[in-house]
Amino acid sequence: MQTHFTADQLADPHTADLEKILRSCVHCGFCTATCPTYVVGRDERDSPRGRIYLIKELLETGRAPDAYDVEPLDHCLSCLSCMTTCPSGVDYRRLIDHARVEVETRYTRDPADRLLRALLVRLLPYPARFRLSIGLAWLGRPLLPILKRLPVVGERLEAMLRLSPARLPARVATPREFKAKAPAASRRRVALLTGCAQGVLAPEINAAAIRVLNRAGVDVVLPEGEGCCGSLAHHMGYEQRALAQARADIDAWTREIDGDGLDAIVITASGCGATIKDYGAMFGHDAAYAGKAARVAALAKDVSEYLLDLDLAFPARRGEIVAYHPACSLQHGQKILDAPKALLRRAGYDVRTPAEAHLCCGSAGVYNILQPRIASELRDRKVRNLARLKADVIATGNIGCMTQIGSKSATPVVHLVELLDWAQGGPTPLRN
Ligand code: SF4
Ligand code: SF4
Repeated sequence: MQTHFTADQLADPHTADLEKILRSCVHCGFCTATCPTYVVGRDERDSPRGRIYLIKELLETGRAPDAYDVEPLDHCLSCLSCMTTCPSGVDYRRLIDHARVEVETRYTRDPADRLLRALLVRLLPYPARFRLSIGLAWLGRPLLPILKRLPVVGERLEAMLRLSPARLPARVATPREFKAKAPAASRRRVALLTGCAQGVLAPEINAAAIRVLNRAGVDVVLPEGEGCCGSLAHHMGYEQRALAQARADIDAWTREIDGDGLDAIVITASGCGATIKDYGAMFGHDAAYAGKAARVAALAKDVSEYLLDLDLAFPARRGEIVAYHPACSLQHGQKILDAPKALLRRAGYDVRTPAEAHLCCGSAGVYNILQPRIASELRDRKVRNLARLKADVIATGNIGCMTQIGSKSATPVVHLVELLDWAQGGPTPLRN
């Protein structure tokens, strides 16, 4: 793609990096076929190629985005399906990340939209506040017929209330360290990301991961000071907030690496994993954190990726049919395709993959709240494809997908590590 930047513009290393990415696009349009928003809307502005042209024009002219520009940028799920498809290796993630920051810093949203976004980014990443907000959502449910008629945010409030769980697991204090029974000399040691929303909605996921890791001779630590990885704020364009959250986690993990040492940082939410693996790039120009961030990113492993290399015993081999839904953040963001399916098959499950497995389910962080119309269309399409497999259970590796698909699916949706734990004698995850 031809670009028209001035020498002054290219003197800025950030603009120079983005210009290189723009030039690598040959506008072939292959990416449009696998972009969920183009597939459902058939509008070039809502395709990766359309967005790339838009971002190029914004960068070249230096003008602030207007409402007409913001719409297709907001519609992007950051699912990165386009990056998997692109034959030229265009790093679309950097372009959309930059565009989101531009929108949040230079575009003035409608006050109600601003308020909703400000609330989401201040509530969801903090477990205590998130728990409280779910309680408020319960109180708000009877007001749904009124709330959904509000201009600008009505549809979004409706989506938020419908997505809030009917019940929450009780809060339980957990120890910080879980030791395996194997002899000390043969044991490995990992940190497990406790996460923010997942820890509130489904603490049984990490509990299952800890049991599976312990049985394989791996000690698990939940480091003091660890919190949200910054993913949610990052995807909403709140860059400084995201970097501050990421720094706190980098510091927490660095203390463990420099202390008793870590074999890996294991993550059970693939959306978080995709962001943590990108810390090296996010802090590339930060002299104080670049080295530490790169070290953390190199140690980050999705739980399926880490377990694949371990010797796991499955005494209670299962025979259930499992429909495996690959989260975008795992298949496109981390390029992990086979590990989850291979593990489930080792445990005895009959694993099946749905049609259009590359398409997003519409969850994408808080996309299902902010863009409920497209998100619902994608969810319904996903649920239909999964239902055709006539599975006993749907497995995935991301809490966002579990919530999104589970809000419509008649088949129970669980985390794949819960199925592995079950096949090793752990509790049944089939709660629905
Ligand atoms: S597939 Fe890649 S090179 Fe082709 S238009 Fe899309 S981003 Fe550009
Ligand atoms: S990230 Fe997903 S929604 Fe956004 S342009 Fe790429 S394929 Fe389309």
